[in-house]
Amino acid sequence: MQLSAPRRLLLIAVLSGGALAAQQAGVGYDDTPLIPGSSFRVHDSKRVPPPVVTPGEMGGPPSDAVVLFDGTGLTAWEGGAWTIADGAMVVNGTGSLRTKQSFGDCQLHLEWATPAEVVSESQGRGNSGVILQGRYEVQVLDSYENVTYADGQAAALYGQYPPLKNACRPPGEWQTYDIVFEAPKFDGETCTAPAYVTVMHNGVLVHHRQPMTGPVAHRNVAKYAPHGPAPLTLQDHGNPVRYRNVWIRELGTRD
Ligand code: MG
Repeated sequence: MQLSAPRRLLLIAVLSGGALAAQQAGVGYDDTPLIPGSSFRVHDSKRVPPPVVTPGEMGGPPSDAVVLFDGTGLTAWEGGAWTIADGAMVVNGTGSLRTKQSFGDCQLHLEWATPAEVVSESQGRGNSGVILQGRYEVQVLDSYENVTYADGQAAALYGQYPPLKNACRPPGEWQTYDIVFEAPKFDGETCTAPAYVTVMHNGVLVHHRQPMTGPVAHRNVAKYAPHGPAPLTLQDHGNPVRYRNVWIRELGTRD
């Protein structure tokens, strides 16, 4: 039977609403095959639905995020004493910021802007950095028509991997990073799994679960050393880079 577009939409709406209601009532199946690698059956009636999370408004924090900076204060941070102006925190040469809280596997959102006035070149132009667990750096740099070494440009995993694309906006404009970070795993002194990093820069995928070779280093290679959850660092590299709307979520797991 052919349905007109509005009727198709209505049918979809009714079916989705029905599916939700059925889930809440525990309706499903208990005679279906097991999902490979899982203890659940296909459409398992006993499978608990995921918790509800309320999405934020256009990049704002969802309801289960730890808000690290909402434009008003540095209470989540220690280290430098950055300036707060127009809802942003601004690097001012007082030192890098690190969160008071430690994090392991996480999803991180933040917005950054390099200075509108271009005063230098290469690594001296809007340099900062998002350093996960204080060790694994996603570079912040003005890479809009700015030549530098590829593994040091904006969104590079500094000293290791250039981004897949250069998605940089012009100097002074707000830009977004959405990062999924899987912390490295250790068994005693042995690193059993590297850090994996996924980065979206202004909505463009620039790293896709990229294994890192170790902690960040300048003109060198660093080896993994055992550590647990650790603070997030924002780098003070002496350039007045701005940050706003910084929030983080622990990565969830599914039963
Ligand atoms: Mg940097």
